[in-house]
Order: sequence, then structure tokens, then C-alpha cells
Amino acid sequence: MKPVIALVGRPNVGKSTLFNRLTGTRDAIVADFAGLTRDRHYGNGHLGKREYIVIDTGGFEPEASEGIYREMAKQTRQAVAESDVVLFVVDARAGLSAQDHDIAQYLRRLGKPTILVANKAEGMTQGVQLAEFFELGLGEVLPVSSAHGQGVRGMLEKALDAI
Ligand code: GDP
Ligand code: MG
Repeated sequence: MKPVIALVGRPNVGKSTLFNRLTGTRDAIVADFAGLTRDRHYGNGHLGKREYIVIDTGGFEPEASEGIYREMAKQTRQAVAESDVVLFVVDARAGLSAQDHDIAQYLRRLGKPTILVANKAEGMTQGVQLAEFFELGLGEVLPVSSAHGQGVRGMLEKALDAI
């Protein structure tokens, strides 16, 4: 069985962009509109000879109770349940949000291997700007740029090693 990696995070943090980079396809819908990728979406990828499956998800609205948000939250929970490791994506430029805290709480309770990824970190000096993400209680934060590729390989190695 190939290991399964779930991409989780609030809308617009760059999950679909990361999905495309991890799978070498452009199948997921990348958009400037928050939450456009409403369906779970599977892709294949490999790191050398190590193959894996990635699941992209729409946004995550744990408190939402109706319509599309409820469906998105359900799909995200299903994706997490199906996965061996979670890449929890936050936005290095936007900083922490209440939604990030909600998702972190959900993931901590679940106890599944989780890698905290700060996307959009191209051109940022690490330390200060990323320090706030330690508040999420998920340990080390890995800066990456899904758009430019920086840090993605190292992040992937950590994810596959965490399984
Ligand atoms: P999703 O809603 O989490 O799937 O986010 P998307 O992948 O659709 O990306 C949302 C927006 O962030 C798009 O405008 C992307 O071009 C942009 N984006 C994604 N990754 C990066 C990155 O590494 N750096 C920067 N600067 N922008 C990014
Ligand atoms: Mg998306």
C-alpha cells in the first residue's frame, strides 16, 4: 500500500498549489477564490522510488453547520481518516488565524502524525515571522513555498518518515 498524505488547512493557504507540486499534475483547481476546491481530490506522486498518494481538500470549517462548509468539513475529516500523515498547511504571510487554532485542536486530538507547514514562505527570513506558529502545539514549523518549490522536498521527506 502506498502511504497516503492529506493536505489540510483553511481556504487559500495554498493546499492545491502544494498538491500540484507533490503530484506533478495540475488537476486540482488552483484559484484566487477561497475554498474553490470543494471536492477531495487524489493524486499520485513519488520521491525517488517512494510512491505516495496525496489528497487535496477544500477548506475546513469545523464549526460550520450548513451547506457547502459543512460538506467541506466532512470531506476534510474523511481525508484525514484515510491518510497516514497530515500536512497541516498555514499561511506564513497571513499569520495565525482562529481557524488555524480550530484545525490544530482537531488534529492534536486525533493524534495522527501531523507536519505543520508554513506556505508562502519564499523570501522570508525564518525565525521571527514563523515563531507564532509554535502556539499551535504541533511542534516544528516547516517553511515552504509551494509556488516556487522551496522546502517542499525536505517537507515531503519528513512526512514520509513520520509514518
Ligand atoms: P487552497 O485554497 O488552500 O487550495 O489555496 P490555493 O492553492 O488555491 O492557493 C491560494 C492562493 O495562494 C493562490 O493565489 C496561489 O497562487 C497562492 N499561493 C499558493 N502557494 C503560494 C506560495 O508558495 N507563495 C505565494 N506567494 N502564493 C502562493
Ligand atoms: Mg484548494
